[in-house]
Amino acid sequence: MHKKLFIPGPIDVKQDVLEQMTRPMIGHRSKEASILQRSISEKLQEVFYTKEQILLSTSSGSGLMEGAIRSCTRKKAAVFSVGAFGDRWYKMAVSNNVPADKFTVEPGEATKPEMVDEVLGTGKYDLITITHNETSTGVMNPVEEISKVMKKYPEVIWCLDAVSSMAGTKIEVDKLGVDICITSTQKCFGMPPGMAVASMSKKAVEAAKQVKYRGVYLDLLELYEYIQKKDYQYPSTPAIPIMYAMDYQLDKILSEGLENRFARHLEMAQYVRAWAKKNFEIFPREEYTSNTLTTIKNTKEIDVSLLNKELGKRGYAISNGYGNLKEKTFRISHMGDYTLDDVKGLIQEIDDILGK
Ligand SMILES: *Cc1c(COP(=O)(O)O)cnc(C)c1O
Repeated sequence: MHKKLFIPGPIDVKQDVLEQMTRPMIGHRSKEASILQRSISEKLQEVFYTKEQILLSTSSGSGLMEGAIRSCTRKKAAVFSVGAFGDRWYKMAVSNNVPADKFTVEPGEATKPEMVDEVLGTGKYDLITITHNETSTGVMNPVEEISKVMKKYPEVIWCLDAVSSMAGTKIEVDKLGVDICITSTQKCFGMPPGMAVASMSKKAVEAAKQVKYRGVYLDLLELYEYIQKKDYQYPSTPAIPIMYAMDYQLDKILSEGLENRFARHLEMAQYVRAWAKKNFEIFPREEYTSNTLTTIKNTKEIDVSLLNKELGKRGYAISNGYGNLKEKTFRISHMGDYTLDDVKGLIQEIDDILGK
């Protein structure tokens, strides 16, 4: 039986979007490829609220995260981590021999603007990474406040991991001053997994020009310059079927209206939060609760694996806690094309199972 995926990616993709992937192939050096890739990029600029160049990558979001920290760190990166996905960015730096320091907080807490200010005030760093929406703890970081601090440090490149929030909540990339904003197709966009997207500012391009060893496949400068020279084409063969689905789904997203889409995500979040507060507790500090997934503290010490097994029989899946938060927390995502009715259906089943 198909399970409705209320996990933090991949999530369900609508049948008409999936069907786009069966269209016949085109050559990646053809005029049609240029038209397709330009069309996707222009629509993504609207979702990102940016005028900067969009880069597509045939990898998951992690690929562009690794590419960004490697391509643009000249001196040293300051990695602000509030959980597993922030830690991943630090691991990428270390494994690529990119100098980096990691700054962490207690699980459930956010990256505070004062912390960013204090770290950058040392003058040691020329790139920072922030996780917009930490999918392990359910924290959504206060990027507007961080943005105010970043205005004081114009030489620092700001990389933002928006993998689990872009297209589900408003992130005004240019207004915030984010240099490289990264997302994946399989979360709030409701598209199939397999591609990643980033915006890249001219400032980031200039930074990358000063970095000698940027790798090859995930060299962001190479991607950027290739697109500009070759009319939106890519150095290697992209996942054309996913791009068909992207082009089509982006039309659907824009015709729903971005504000409507964000409001729908918030509506689903508020419903899950209210249920969680009534029955358990919300794991992150309240003011930083994510709009795209809710991490719930397992205060009743239910058997989360068993709950998920029962849910599976009824055609649903949620997520256990991440890493050492397993069984101590569990996670319900509310992303993509789901509606409040879908979420109500899930919660009803959970209530029914737990009531037994
Ligand atoms: C899912 C996720 C990632 C990893 O994305 P992939 O597309 O699986 O590589 C990174 N960061 C966050 C916050 C995520 O939720």
